[in-house]
Amino acid sequence: MTSAAHRLNADLHCHSTVSDGVLRPEEVVRRAAANGVQLLALTDHDELDGIAVAAREADRLGLAFVPGVEVSVSWGGETIHVLGLSVDCASAPLRDGLARTRGGRDERAREMARQLEAVGVPDPWNGALRHVGNPELISRTHFARHIVASGLCTDIGEVFERYLSEGKPGFVEHRWARLDEAVDWIVGAGGVAVMAHPARYRLDETALWAMLAEFRDAGGEGIEVVCGSHTADQYGRFADCARRFGFRASRGSDFHGPDEGSVDLGGLPPLPDALVPVWRDWPQAAVTS
Ligand code: AMP
Ligand code: MN
Ligand code: MN
Ligand code: MN
Repeated sequence: MTSAAHRLNADLHCHSTVSDGVLRPEEVVRRAAANGVQLLALTDHDELDGIAVAAREADRLGLAFVPGVEVSVSWGGETIHVLGLSVDCASAPLRDGLARTRGGRDERAREMARQLEAVGVPDPWNGALRHVGNPELISRTHFARHIVASGLCTDIGEVFERYLSEGKPGFVEHRWARLDEAVDWIVGAGGVAVMAHPARYRLDETALWAMLAEFRDAGGEGIEVVCGSHTADQYGRFADCARRFGFRASRGSDFHGPDEGSVDLGGLPPLPDALVPVWRDWPQAAVTS
């Protein structure tokens, strides 16, 4: 039987101009409300700066809202994303940790620009900056939008394939936070650490399970099961995985903008039955369930 918690239209993963989304935080909230989202978390990459504005707009619209963040982590040579949900944005260790994680982005972006220029991308630094909303958060997505705008590729997916993924001319190796420290920052801020889009990582089954075991042992409690980058088959695979590891399950579109990605805010199917939704005991979820 599907519980009220399962039926709640929760969207706990999305981005604004404070990281690599195209809508401002308050616009993300308005779109979520218009789409029927009942519980929203804004989860900008390595940043909390959009939370106050988003929370205010959600309050005005009567939309239940939890503060969130998506932390960039390096594990076994792969970049992993860990969501921190329901975090206290005033937590000094979390804020300091995120500031350190953001710190290397400027130099990385300058090197990306040099490499992209060398393979014929026109004015990559200024071009990417035109898409950046937060100078502390220059991401590969901003370069990708510039490369699409310049006519070299037809969509962002093609840019990542040709220029921005590992081994391609604009890819610059980078060391992000450690898995255990990212989880510590989140848990220390009273939040729930959730493994984002586990199907996206280039880890074989053994490595993926080792990473998830390490995540759980560090204090990780949740995993995205229904999310914008999973197929329906992967919902089932990660539902099994959630049960095996004892993780709570999360649901999030990973919305970046109206013309990007395959799913809009609030547009995903419900969580499979028999999983424990990550929001089950949250007071914010009780408001609308
Ligand atoms: P960065 O944090 O600068 O490494 O950028 C990572 C972001 O790039 C992710 O959060 C996604 O928004 C985007 N991204 C990564 N891979 C792809 C892809 N294959 N297609 C589209 N967007 C991608
Ligand atoms: Mn992103
Ligand atoms: Mn991500
Ligand atoms: Mn994301």
